[in-house]
Amino acid sequence: MDKNLNNIFVISSPSGGGKSSLIEALLLDERAEKIKLSVSFTTREIRSSEKNQKDYIFIKEDEFMKKIDDGDFIEYAKVFGNFYGTDKLLTERILKSKDILLELDWQGAFSIKKTFKNVVSVFLIPPSYKDLEKRLSIRGTESDRSMNLRLSAAKDEISRYKFYDYLILNDNFESALIDFKTIIFEKKSPSEFKTRVTSDLLRKLLD
Ligand code: 5GP
Repeated sequence: MDKNLNNIFVISSPSGGGKSSLIEALLLDERAEKIKLSVSFTTREIRSSEKNQKDYIFIKEDEFMKKIDDGDFIEYAKVFGNFYGTDKLLTERILKSKDILLELDWQGAFSIKKTFKNVVSVFLIPPSYKDLEKRLSIRGTESDRSMNLRLSAAKDEISRYKFYDYLILNDNFESALIDFKTIIFEKKSPSEFKTRVTSDLLRKLLD
C-alpha cells in the first residue's frame, strides 16, 4: 500500500456472497469517513429495491457503448449478460481527497490491479454454494434464469481467489465484518492478516 496515495479498495464475491451488506456496515464505522463507495454504470434492469444514481447509474446499452468508445471507463466488464463499468472522471475526482471502494467482479478487479499501484483487493468466500443460493433466494431479486446464471458462475469466480490480496470467509456476518474492518482500517499487510478461509474449504468449493 502506498502511504502517499489514496487507496483503491476492491471487493469481489460470487453473486449472493454478501458484499453489499458488509460494505454498508463498514461505511457506518466512523473510521470510514475517508472512504467513498463508487457508483458504477450498468445496463442491467433496475430492481424495485434500487435507486438510480445511488446503487448504480442505469443506462441503455447504446449509451454504455458510447462511453466505452469515448474512453470514459477505467474498467468495464460484461457480467451475467449485462455491462458494468467504473467511470474515470468520477473515480479521479474521489481519489483527489478520499479512498475509493469499488465493488467489482473478478474481471474488473484484474484490470484495476493492472492499471493502478495503490490497490487493496479483497475476496469474500462463501462457506458453501448452498449459502449463496439461500442468500440469493431470500433477497428475491433475481428471476430463475438470472439466479441459475449467477450460481453457475460462482465456481469460476471463486477459482480466481489467488489473485486477491485478502480472503474473507463470510460464514457469519459479524466475523466477516471484523475481518473486513481489520483489513481496511488496521491496514494489516496480507501476511499479517490471518484468513479464516482454509485450503480444505477452497478445495471443496473448487472440486
Ligand atoms: P449485480 O447485478 O448483482 O448488482 O452485480 C453483478 C456483478 O457485477 C457483481 O459481481 C458486482 O460486483 C459486479 N459489478 C458491479 N459494478 C461493477 C463495475 O463497475 N465493474 C465491474 N467489472 N463489475 C461490477
